[in-house]
Amino acid sequence: MAYSMVDLLEKKKLGQELTKEEIDFWVQGLSRRAIPEYQTSAMLMAIRLKGMTKAETFALTESMMHSGKMLDLSDIPGVKADKHSTGGVGDKTSMALCPMVASLGLKIAKMSGRGLGFTGGTLDKLESIPGMSVTLTPDQFKKQVKDVGMAIIGQSPELDPADKILYALRDVTATVDSVPLIASSIMSKKLAAGCDDILLDVKYGNGAFMPTKEAAENLAKVMVEIGCYFHRNVEAEITNMNEPLGNAIGNILEVKEAIDTLHGHGPKDFTELCFSSGASMLLQAGLYSTRQEARKALEENVQNGKAFEVFRRFVQAQGGDVSYIDHPEKFPTALYVYPVKSTKSGYLTSIDTMAMGLDSMRLGAGREKEDDLIDPTAGIILNKKIGDKVSRGDLLLTLYTEKDDMDGMQTSILKNFDFGDAPVPMNPVVEEIISYDSTNRTFFVTKED
Ligand code: URA
Repeated sequence: MAYSMVDLLEKKKLGQELTKEEIDFWVQGLSRRAIPEYQTSAMLMAIRLKGMTKAETFALTESMMHSGKMLDLSDIPGVKADKHSTGGVGDKTSMALCPMVASLGLKIAKMSGRGLGFTGGTLDKLESIPGMSVTLTPDQFKKQVKDVGMAIIGQSPELDPADKILYALRDVTATVDSVPLIASSIMSKKLAAGCDDILLDVKYGNGAFMPTKEAAENLAKVMVEIGCYFHRNVEAEITNMNEPLGNAIGNILEVKEAIDTLHGHGPKDFTELCFSSGASMLLQAGLYSTRQEARKALEENVQNGKAFEVFRRFVQAQGGDVSYIDHPEKFPTALYVYPVKSTKSGYLTSIDTMAMGLDSMRLGAGREKEDDLIDPTAGIILNKKIGDKVSRGDLLLTLYTEKDDMDGMQTSILKNFDFGDAPVPMNPVVEEIISYDSTNRTFFVTKED
């Protein structure tokens, strides 16, 4: 049956529930480019403001995942696994974590996204490696997962085209921070990519789309339930994004930090997240029976170079120039490099993480408009993190940009930092893990120490 998009918009504007057929009409129409972007943008805003019921969110996910091909990975031996973060500032986890777990036998088949709002995107980071392509045909993708142990691609006209269109529109219509839109975007990609096991990293805090831990738990539960409904083994970690992850924000800067981490020289918080999430993925797949054993194996494969070797083979397989991976000093540096010194003394107690993401975007690392080009060299290195003791005059951070009018940020960015007389208590990197028993319809929450 044909519906009228104006009628559907009217319904959603009034907060009424759309049927599965109506959602299908919209999603399949927008994927074929038969529904104009102005109507889809209006629908996104209506959903952002009025929300969606559980039935609508499930229907939206299902329709998006069927907007392209559904990959069948059953002929690839081993456990096929995927991880996905809801997005944060400096979140380069996939680039380090995926090779770590792939080096221990997990097959990583991952569909990622680009920068969204103030957050960076794995695809943009990977594309800052010269030659690297994030477009593979479904057959190439499967072959690489089988041969190399991991592949990371973007949504395409073949795979989840609906998410490709919606994702880009949400980025420029202030409709990113919506539980049904985030859940359907992430889960449609994960389900279409065909993995058995999925680990979600749901972030909360002043640098995440979910401001509070409760909001993150709610989003995590929606996504875990969607995954279980489609017979996948899904768990969600709740992690804190009240400061940028690691020290680097911006595409080349983050690739270099991921390489350092694969060599065992990464920042403490980022390394801890990789080991903790990696252990969760290995346990989820049943490859190890205790968290300690899984963690030890990950640490060993970083020390003996096996994790780095998988990353190298992955980059090579997707066309990237591995001489940059072997010699990261070959990556270009931005034309302008501004050191920013602290004007205060004390313990660093908080960082406005979203503001840091937006500042990095203004330096050139992200997009303000859909067709903006990213400057791969742009971004920020944090020289101090929360908990560090800082003296007036100490180097607090460093700005990298190709733009010639950014020197004012040397002063304005200081307002993103607060200091106190004593260090603030720190939460564990992974605060809890949420899983679901679909037989008894019960969620389990495991707290980390
Ligand atoms: N990551 C995604 O893939 N989609 C979102 O909506 C947010 C983060």
